[in-house]
Amino acid sequence: MTWKPVIGLEVHVRLKAQSKLFCACANDYGRPPNTAACPVCLGLPGALPTANAQAIALAVRAALALNADVQPTSRFARKNYFYPDLPKGYQITQYDQPLALGGWLDIPGAARRIPLTRLHIEEDAGKTAHAPARSVSLVDYNRCGAPLAEIVTEPELTSPAEAAAFLKALRRLLVWIDVTDGDMEEGALRCDVNVSLRDDAGRAGERVEIKNLNSFRFVEQSLEYEIARQQTILEHGGAIERETRHFDPLRRATLPMRGKEDSPDYRYFPEPDLPPLALPSALVAEQARLLPEFPDARAARLAQAHGLTAAQTAFLMSDRATADYFEAAVTHGAPPVLAANWLAGEAAAELNRRHATIVQLSVAPLSFAELLRLLNLGRITTPAAKALFAEMAATGKPPESLLAENPAYLRRDDAETLEKIIDDVIARHPALVEKYRSGKTAVLDALVGLAMKAAGGAADPKQLRDRLIAKLAGDS
Ligand code: ZN
Ligand code: MN
Repeated sequence: MTWKPVIGLEVHVRLKAQSKLFCACANDYGRPPNTAACPVCLGLPGALPTANAQAIALAVRAALALNADVQPTSRFARKNYFYPDLPKGYQITQYDQPLALGGWLDIPGAARRIPLTRLHIEEDAGKTAHAPARSVSLVDYNRCGAPLAEIVTEPELTSPAEAAAFLKALRRLLVWIDVTDGDMEEGALRCDVNVSLRDDAGRAGERVEIKNLNSFRFVEQSLEYEIARQQTILEHGGAIERETRHFDPLRRATLPMRGKEDSPDYRYFPEPDLPPLALPSALVAEQARLLPEFPDARAARLAQAHGLTAAQTAFLMSDRATADYFEAAVTHGAPPVLAANWLAGEAAAELNRRHATIVQLSVAPLSFAELLRLLNLGRITTPAAKALFAEMAATGKPPESLLAENPAYLRRDDAETLEKIIDDVIARHPALVEKYRSGKTAVLDALVGLAMKAAGGAADPKQLRDRLIAKLAGDS
């Protein structure tokens, strides 16, 4: 018997609205605990919610980008349950009439289109923190009422890797269209996973839900564990129980949270404090107008215009700011293929070192283009260009002014300079020269390195090597 995984996702995305979903409190998770919570957040008697137009607009934009059918009228509902991080005793969400139905998302490079069930709007709950050393649990209500969009897929994902790839593609798109910051460590994207196994005859077992995963890796690891666990049970003739589990990253295992018997009955009913959500058609049209060119279309356009490879465009499309930077640099005259390679190589490494994003890079696209043009014209060597780039990133100065300050960066391969450098290296390192001449040609690398150092990295390595060989052969 072979078992095929059947996987569906429910993804909670924190919308980038300035205030919360039903009150004017700041939607900001950086604040000290309980400093962004009002009577509406806390569900105090008499406090009434008002729907946040900006959050709704962002959810509509997400729905449009996901090819979903935005419903002219949707409705808020109460989902009743008790938990310390939910002071009202219910969550305001959408139930039988969500904001949008259907839709799909393509996984780039995989020729896979994953259909979606729905997208709805709901409020987030607060946060509990347990301090066992002090025998207390602490609650922070700042997150109460934060605006979320929940995106539910059809159960059509077929492997842990595919589920992770889908989530990556979803995150990239939602950050790309500017509806969320997508910060997973801060919980701006959290995922519940449903998984069951289907046998050869197409019969699906009970499904298990794994709650609240906040990284691509955890999605993949928890699914791998859960699929293996279910398979073992089924192969031994057992039955899967319908239950909710959580993932322990340290043990890399899923553990039971609650079974079907104690699964809560949420007693959904329409939210009496909010009218049905009738979307003005102008709002939907405006959000459609704000949608930028999508990553796949942009990748295809840039590949065609500049002869870029799939790997190059894949890197450039990792976020919109990188794609924008590339196009700005090319507009300023950067050779496109060189620019793509430098962004994926030197620029990415520099940003990594600085734990920064490309928006924070102090090298303007114009300066970047200038640098690559100098390199392309042969006025500087690749090692010099790299050193210059690091200095540009550190100082924010354009390459011309750095070259004016330090002309040593300019390529020094006029015959006279190189000759002097090589003579000097040969004179200073007789032992190496002796070894080379006695047949240990491997020391040539060391001699080239010394010469390159003497040239301040600003000579062409091949020329240097050729001249050294000629010189060592000629003088013997
Ligand atoms: Zn509030
Ligand atoms: Mn939810």
